[in-house]
Amino acid sequence: MTALLEVAGVSRHFRGLAAIADVSFRVDAGSICSLIGPNGAGKSTLFNLISGFLPLHGGSISFGGARIDGLSTVRIAERGIARAFQIARPFPGLTVAENVRVGALFGRSGARDVAKVVTEALSLTGLAEAAAQPAASLTVGYLRRLELARAIAARPLLLLADEPCAGLNHTETEEIVVLLREIRARGVTVLLVEHDMAAVMRISDRVFVLDAGSKIAEGTPAEVAADARVIAAYLGTPEAG
Ligand code: ADP
Ligand code: MG
Repeated sequence: MTALLEVAGVSRHFRGLAAIADVSFRVDAGSICSLIGPNGAGKSTLFNLISGFLPLHGGSISFGGARIDGLSTVRIAERGIARAFQIARPFPGLTVAENVRVGALFGRSGARDVAKVVTEALSLTGLAEAAAQPAASLTVGYLRRLELARAIAARPLLLLADEPCAGLNHTETEEIVVLLREIRARGVTVLLVEHDMAAVMRISDRVFVLDAGSKIAEGTPAEVAADARVIAAYLGTPEAG
């Protein structure tokens, strides 16, 4: 089986600091995978490398069997990778629907069926009733939905979601979990960075654990939760074994 996304021996440093050191993992088509790890582990850097915001210093990244490292952010988006940011960056003067329309004009949507793509993305994310409101009027929970709506309006094959549940209460978190499952059910593979461990454990098929730039564990949620190195990394104690 070919992985949809294959990260192979990837490295990235910032001056002397190895932010990502020889990290490898694969994301199978149709799965929901999560990237977890303590603050500073390198999760956002990895998303920046996959989406082309930062160049690699080693290794390779392939998508659908073809190399994408070295391509521009625009080309990578066109191949079918969309990113939802933790801090939503809507155009505050535009309405909710207009913001989603901007997303629909990028990625794989192109200029085709823009109105239909926008309507579907708004309906899927529960934003249909808020469509005509200015984006600036949304609560944090709804801004997070808008960020996801904007990303899926590009009709991606892979959604990179950076902490979609950060700062949300229990109910809002549950709603985002349900939404991510619906996005997956529509054929979009999902790679998450998420701090809410309960959400990660419920939603993920596979979890990759980073610590200080290295992958220290990988497996099902139950496997990584029982891993001594993972527990040590989270407790901040010296490595066990
Ligand atoms: P995480 O998202 O897991 O919290 P990051 O990927 O943001 O971690 O950061 C990993 C490490 O790389 C941290 O030590 C951080 O300070 C450093 N880092 C990230 N981006 C930059 C940058 N643009 N310049 C310098 N150092 C950076
Ligand atoms: Mg981060």
